[in-house]
Amino acid sequence: MASPTREISPARAPRSKQRRGEGQWALGYREPLNPNERAKKDDHPLNVRDRIENIYAGGGFDSIDPGDLRGRFRWYGLYTQRKPGIDGGRTATLEPEELDDEYFMLRVRVDGGDLTTEQLTVIGEVSQTYARDTADITDRQNVQYHWIRIEDMPTIWEKLEGAGLTTISACGDSPRVILGSPLAGIAEDEVIDGTPAIDEIKRRYLGRPEYANLPRKFKTAVSGLPDVAHEIHDVAFVGVQHPEHGPGFDVWVGGGLSTNPMIGQRLGAWVPRDEVPEVWEGVLAVFRDYGYRRLRSRARIKFLVKDWGAEKFREVLESRYLRRRLIDGPAPEVPEVQRDHVGVHRQKDGRFYVGAAPIAGRVSGSLLIATAKAAERAGSNRVRLTPQQKLVVLDVPEAEVSGLQAELAELGLPTEPSPWRRGVMACTGIEFCKLAIVETKARAAELVAALEERLAAIQSDVDNPVRVHINGCPNSCARIQTADIGLKGQIVTDADGNQVEGFQVHLGGGLGLDAGFGRKLRGHKVTGDELTGYVERVVRRYHEQRTDGERFAQW
Ligand code: SF4
Repeated sequence: MASPTREISPARAPRSKQRRGEGQWALGYREPLNPNERAKKDDHPLNVRDRIENIYAGGGFDSIDPGDLRGRFRWYGLYTQRKPGIDGGRTATLEPEELDDEYFMLRVRVDGGDLTTEQLTVIGEVSQTYARDTADITDRQNVQYHWIRIEDMPTIWEKLEGAGLTTISACGDSPRVILGSPLAGIAEDEVIDGTPAIDEIKRRYLGRPEYANLPRKFKTAVSGLPDVAHEIHDVAFVGVQHPEHGPGFDVWVGGGLSTNPMIGQRLGAWVPRDEVPEVWEGVLAVFRDYGYRRLRSRARIKFLVKDWGAEKFREVLESRYLRRRLIDGPAPEVPEVQRDHVGVHRQKDGRFYVGAAPIAGRVSGSLLIATAKAAERAGSNRVRLTPQQKLVVLDVPEAEVSGLQAELAELGLPTEPSPWRRGVMACTGIEFCKLAIVETKARAAELVAALEERLAAIQSDVDNPVRVHINGCPNSCARIQTADIGLKGQIVTDADGNQVEGFQVHLGGGLGLDAGFGRKLRGHKVTGDELTGYVERVVRRYHEQRTDGERFAQW
């Protein structure tokens, strides 16, 4: 049994040997070295819920303590949203309070992207009543609302939690939503269904204070298929067949994007499904105890893994936390093509799953309710959100498939979308995000419409959509480094010398067989106005020049 909650005595590591100032708890550094660590120590962030319900909801926005507003609120999925009308050039120059609107973004975690139609309906109803009908499907299988008022939070929680949904640890330095395959339990080629492990991790550990003050965020993926970007997670469990022990999971640690992107490293360990929660807890505890707490920019687990290497990480995990050896195991199969779950496909039980494509995850509460109704009319009561900002209806009988497709298309959710629509993702961007420098979602919609018009002639030849990911700032919420064409929002200089919204281009990134980060070409920047023309030219050239079956990353 793991004992990762114990604290390691400072006496184990003489101060002279400690890395100066990294703030690792396990080496005796318990005094906060930055304001975030101080805030977490002064009052555990999970305590803030009580104040929201009993003080702030009654007192309104102005009654909120700034430390809660810009810090602890995140542990319940709440961020202040950006004040409308502030251009991206001023993002870095304004004080946080100048950027804060009095409304909030609220993130609902949907572990494994797994929802019943009843839950989808509740998500939609909350959006209609409390979020001006906004809803975005994120590339981490969450749903995000905007325009939330603090006064409404107690009722929102009551409604969401009444449907078995939660916002706890949806943001903050805590274990975030767990990604799982949208096809868990239904795919013919799945090695193993990760859902029971995801459920058990949530049941045992979610909301426990000792696991909710980490050096930084902690992203997990558990999937029997390699379809959840496992390479870029803090910890990932990927389905693999062990030659002696059968189906289980291969463990990866230390993946991540943003600045200093890193592909996760395999520990070389095979874990059976019922041991995944214990091993997950061990990895989390290594991070909590040894993760760097001095600088936020070096606090993700990838920095520890980079310094230690996979071998030492596994050794510490086994000897000090699990207190046993893990079984050595093989690497999972590497997929040639990144799966996106769009379209109609047969499940292993003979029914069908039907994947639909909103543009860059932008939906609405009304649309989600209508989708739930359409799914139910087609005999389904299960939907899944995908890591590509799409939505899948499961368990559809063959006779209902075409009717459902027609209904979804009518709703603006095509199940046979253009490859451009299929391949686009975008983060929240300047519309709501305080860190944003440029607009993203609207640009994604414009880009898709323009490519559908201009590239209609080559559309039917496209067997492998070019993936275009758009970020509003240097963070990588839309995973730009792993896109065929990754676009990082920044202010650029246009032909007339004006400072305007634009993008640094990254080309040729990928996951699976093409795992690697896109090349950032020096000086390769486009203005927002040039974006569509640029993407069109690149896509055209790729389709003209590529050899049979050549993927973008190989080109
Ligand atoms: Fe906000 Fe930047 Fe993330 Fe986009 S990439 S959602 S702009 S922090």
